[in-house]
Amino acid sequence: MSESLSQSLPIELQPPLKKGELNVNHWIGDTWVKGDGPVFQVHSPYNGSLIGAGAAASSALVEQALTVAEKAFEHWRWVPIKERSAVLFQFRQLLLRDIDGLSNLICSESGKIFSEARAEILKGIEVTEFALSLQNSDQTQKLEVSRGVSCEFRREPLGVVAAITPFNFPAMVPMWMIPIALVAGNCLVWKPSEKVPLTALKIAELLKQAGLPSGVFTVLHGAKDLVEALCLNKRIQAIGFVGSSAIADKVYQMGAATHKRVLALGGAKNHLIVMPDAEPQMTAQGIVDSFTGCAGQRCMAASVLLAVGEQGNSAIESTLTLATEKASKMRLGFDMGALISSQSLFKIRGALERALASGSGSLRLDGRETPVPQGCEAGFWLGPTILDQVVAGSEAACDELFGPVLSIIRVPSLSEALTIQKSNPYGNAASVFTQSAAIADRVMKEAHAGMIGVNIGVPVPREPFSFGGIGLSRFGHGDITGMQGLEFWTQLKKVTSKWVMQSDQNWMS
Ligand code: NAD
Repeated sequence: MSESLSQSLPIELQPPLKKGELNVNHWIGDTWVKGDGPVFQVHSPYNGSLIGAGAAASSALVEQALTVAEKAFEHWRWVPIKERSAVLFQFRQLLLRDIDGLSNLICSESGKIFSEARAEILKGIEVTEFALSLQNSDQTQKLEVSRGVSCEFRREPLGVVAAITPFNFPAMVPMWMIPIALVAGNCLVWKPSEKVPLTALKIAELLKQAGLPSGVFTVLHGAKDLVEALCLNKRIQAIGFVGSSAIADKVYQMGAATHKRVLALGGAKNHLIVMPDAEPQMTAQGIVDSFTGCAGQRCMAASVLLAVGEQGNSAIESTLTLATEKASKMRLGFDMGALISSQSLFKIRGALERALASGSGSLRLDGRETPVPQGCEAGFWLGPTILDQVVAGSEAACDELFGPVLSIIRVPSLSEALTIQKSNPYGNAASVFTQSAAIADRVMKEAHAGMIGVNIGVPVPREPFSFGGIGLSRFGHGDITGMQGLEFWTQLKKVTSKWVMQSDQNWMS
């Protein structure tokens, strides 16, 4: 890095941990329990300082937690949905009360900027509000199907279920699952990412303050071994997982082997298709917001830009010039956050160097030179980076780099753009920038993605429209939020009953 930014950061970072201190404990039945497994550490992406440490949960602790959760389920399942919702409503209020403190915590451990941390809590609140709306909707659909005989649906909770989450949204991704699973009557065991466990402690505290009964919500910390223990444990009825595709696939297979219901969302490589008729200012802003938001560490981030038009097309060139200018003005620590770890930084820089060395891309904007905030020189920083003339099929065009790197591939036609987009095995998001409804319609129909954007760079559906991709971005069936979330976390029963004793039977019952 060439220089530092001297302004002080607009967030309050967590203070460094005292030597030997373990501040990450497990939440089991309203009690903080010390772990008995291997110790893990949490380093702030801002400056690399040690801000958290804990001992992972051993399999004995998992069994202890599941016993507590199973006991709680015997009570929680009978609590009417309106009473369960009252607790979650209080939780929503507490999140709003503590939103600034929680945002600072999220920034400290994930490297985000304040506005991004705040926005992810607000999205978690939106899912909570969706879960709260379920108390006002009748899911039963009762109908008289024969004389005196009626059929109805019932939705029953599954029991003790688990959520396993990634580092990049310490609050939002867990809150895709927590409110819906709890309102539906389940007891949830959450294993947050070992890279961002501090937010989980605060969420457990707020749920307790909201009045959630003991054992309904559990937090267990750990990494690979704990994930395997949860996925293979027959006392857990369902697993909601979000993370990279390789681990999502593994979780899906382990869950299926033990006859669980599993929805495992995986990684992504999202494409933006930019047409020559796209509105330049809006498109340039959409491109930059998409590939730099959360420092490119989100499963909805743009990673590949398919620039459609003959080489040198002036409309495309001016949109790309605008986008490059906007990205070059971003200040690290102020407009864009840090990468999660030195390993991630190393991996992305390696991919960049390979692209340049092999001639499969040329630098349009070099984020390796972007100034870092003063005092944060030991953090994991990379500025917005744009590779142009990227070769389709190369590493930068195909692999999920998970950083603020945009690979521009030049294509002569929309058909060529769609061929490249559809050949990618992921399928989270794809967007088109155009002023033509016919082009937008073609992309909606043909693109291989679960979430499509039209003149939107990050097409995250707002509730009640559900969130989920296809292909290697999703293992299992259905989406994770909205009504599909309710379907995932409940058992659908079909009840046929006859209470009119004297009526004739006129069907097989
Ligand atoms: P990750 O796959 O490394 O970790 C996710 C979870 O799996 C964590 O809780 C982690 O402890 C656990 N885990 C890690 N390695 C494991 C192993 N070998 N065996 C068992 N469990 C293991 O993902 P991450 O780096 O924390 O998060 C980034 C990834 O998540 C990206 O690929 C991103 O696209 C994806 N993501 C997807 C979505 C989506 O909705 N599709 C949302 C957010 C993030």
